[in-house]
Amino acid sequence: RSKSAGRSTWTEFDDTMAAELESRQGLEAELRNAVAAGEIEPWYQPIISTQSNSVVGVEALARWQHAERGLILPGLFIPLAEESSLIVELGQAMIDRCCREMYPLIREGHLDYVSINLSTRHLRSPSVVEQIARTLARYRFPPSALQLEITESLLLIDFDQAEERLSHFRALGIRIALDDFGAGYSSLSYIRRLPLDVIKIDRSFARDISADRQAEAVVKAIVQLAQALELHIVAEGIETESQALRLTSCGCFVQQGYLFGQPMPLNEITQYLLAGDLEGGANPTHFAQRVL
Ligand code: C2E
Ligand code: MG
Ligand code: MG
Ligand code: MG
Repeated sequence: RSKSAGRSTWTEFDDTMAAELESRQGLEAELRNAVAAGEIEPWYQPIISTQSNSVVGVEALARWQHAERGLILPGLFIPLAEESSLIVELGQAMIDRCCREMYPLIREGHLDYVSINLSTRHLRSPSVVEQIARTLARYRFPPSALQLEITESLLLIDFDQAEERLSHFRALGIRIALDDFGAGYSSLSYIRRLPLDVIKIDRSFARDISADRQAEAVVKAIVQLAQALELHIVAEGIETESQALRLTSCGCFVQQGYLFGQPMPLNEITQYLLAGDLEGGANPTHFAQRVL
């Protein structure tokens, strides 16, 4: 009796696993088609300066418009894409489309740059530098208006190769940002040894800075370090005015978060950028107020 009960449990377990695997494979196949069909689209989140009270750039964030499931966030499909070379195709499609969509707005002076997340697996693909250089040339996109965001988590796997690729990008004039700095296993040796232009402070600091004096002390130390190493700083995840003001008083003037704007599709970010130019003004929370 106990034997058959055991067997039925195993059968159920197998069924669940098989179903999961099947839906996973199903999703991967769908994702592959979506990438090929151009259904993965960049949404854009504004990055603002509380000093000049203007938009300086945007970060492109991948969104999947799925016919039945609706909008799918990258937390679900980026890890799946990263399991295979699909992430290279997805990443390349993102870069291509961002350059094409942002070029007119950059040329007209509505913003300085677009920042795009580059997966470590994509960075490791042999032709990545050549591919991106070709995309820039195709759209006559100024390399100085492109920023690539990398995360430190997986760079350890082949540090020398990563360093070499990043140096190539910088030689082309592309800026490199280290994303989510201070989260997880941050190593100070990374920011000393990697060819970087920008550090993006992880959003956990913005979350804690109002309540926690230690978070504020660490942010001040990161700002000092960045100044000494001649790196720019961007603070992420700013949701409240008090967070924006505190970060500004720590010397973090360039900020990104829901307070200033959520990631939005091309037509909305275009409206946002045009409206910002019209309003102007010296009020540092001008962008925040527009949203509140
Ligand atoms: P990330 O690069 O650190 O991007 C910032 C994430 O924080 C975005 O989530 C953004 O929507 C969210 N965010 C922005 N402001 C706030 C805020 O004020 N509060 C909170 N709680 N969240 C905020 P999203 O769009 O879901 O993207 C998640 C991650 O997926 C990204 O984190 C990035 O690592 C990855 N990702 C997104 N698009 C791409 C892509 O095209 N390629 C690659 N390789 N990775 C991507
Ligand atoms: Mg990012
Ligand atoms: Mg980030
Ligand atoms: Mg990230």
